[in-house]
Amino acid sequence: MTKVASIPQCRFCSASAEFQSIKGHYVYGGDPQQHFWQCRSCQMIYLDPPMSEAQEHHFYKQEFEKYMDQRSGEDTNWSGPEQHFCANQREVNRRIPFLEPYLNDVKTVLELGCSSGFMLSALKSHGKKVYGIDPSDGFIEYIKGKGIAVFASDEDFKKAINIPLDLIIHYYVFEHIRHPVEFIKKYMTWIKKGGRMIFEVPCATDPLVELYKVPAFEQFYWSVAHHWYFTKESLSRVLEKTDYAFQLFAEQRYDISNHMVWMLEGRPGGLGRYNHVFDEELNRQYKEQLKKYWICDTIVAVVEK
Ligand SMILES: [Zn+2]
Repeated sequence: MTKVASIPQCRFCSASAEFQSIKGHYVYGGDPQQHFWQCRSCQMIYLDPPMSEAQEHHFYKQEFEKYMDQRSGEDTNWSGPEQHFCANQREVNRRIPFLEPYLNDVKTVLELGCSSGFMLSALKSHGKKVYGIDPSDGFIEYIKGKGIAVFASDEDFKKAINIPLDLIIHYYVFEHIRHPVEFIKKYMTWIKKGGRMIFEVPCATDPLVELYKVPAFEQFYWSVAHHWYFTKESLSRVLEKTDYAFQLFAEQRYDISNHMVWMLEGRPGGLGRYNHVFDEELNRQYKEQLKKYWICDTIVAVVEK
C-alpha cells in the first residue's frame, strides 16, 4: 500500500490543513512523502515533513558539496574549492555592483555560509576586514589558505571576534534555515546601529516555474535542503515579524540561454550557450523585463539596523 502524505498545518503561521495545498510535488533529494506546501493564509511555501535536526547536521557537515555537485550543471562547479571559487567569479561580478553603494562606511563584513570564500575574497580586495562562518568541512582549509578568518560555528566566531559588525551578508542560506524569524533577529543583534544585513534567496516565482512551467525544472527545483521558498509577499511577511526596516529587490541570475536549454533539453547548464546571437544587451533587457513583473529567480533583501 502506498503511503499518502497527510496534510500538514502551516509550518510558519500554523494555519490549519484546509489552507494548505501542494506547490512542489517532487522534492529533489527527498522521499515520496515529502512535498513543498503553500499556505493560503500566509503565502509561505515550506517543506513537509522536513529533515530531522540530526539528519540536517550530518547533511551540512558531510554531504552538502556532494549534493550540490550532483545537482549543478556546468553553470556552477561544486567539484572542489578552487573550481567553485573560479566558477563563482561571475556571481561576484553580479553581486558586487549591487553591494557597492552600501560599502562606503563598512569596515567589517561577516558572511554566513561562505562556502569557498569567493565573496569574502572580493570584499577583502575592496579593503574590508572579512570573516566567514561555515559549518561544512569541505572548503574550510582552502578559505583559510586565502588568509580569510573562517569559523565552523557562531560560538567559535564569538570567542575570537568582537561584535558588532558593519555588514552581514548571506547568499542562498536563508531558505535552508529552520527558524527564519529567529535567525534574522539573532544576527541583527551582531550588527552596529546604522549597519545592514544584505542577502539573496531564490524567488519562488522563477520564470521556469511561473511563466514557462518547464516539467523537467519542476523535478529539479524543489530541493530537500530547503525549508522554504520565498516570494516577494512571503519574504516581506517574514521580515515584518523582525521589526527591522527592509527593502526587497527583484533580481535575475540566469540568462536566456539557460532558459532555452531547460526548455529544449530539460537540464541545467545552458548559461551563455547562445551568447554569440543573444548579446549582453539583449540579456540585460530580458532580465529587466522579468524583474519588472517579479517573475524572476532571485530576491535581494536589505535589512537596516
Ligand atoms: Zn501559513
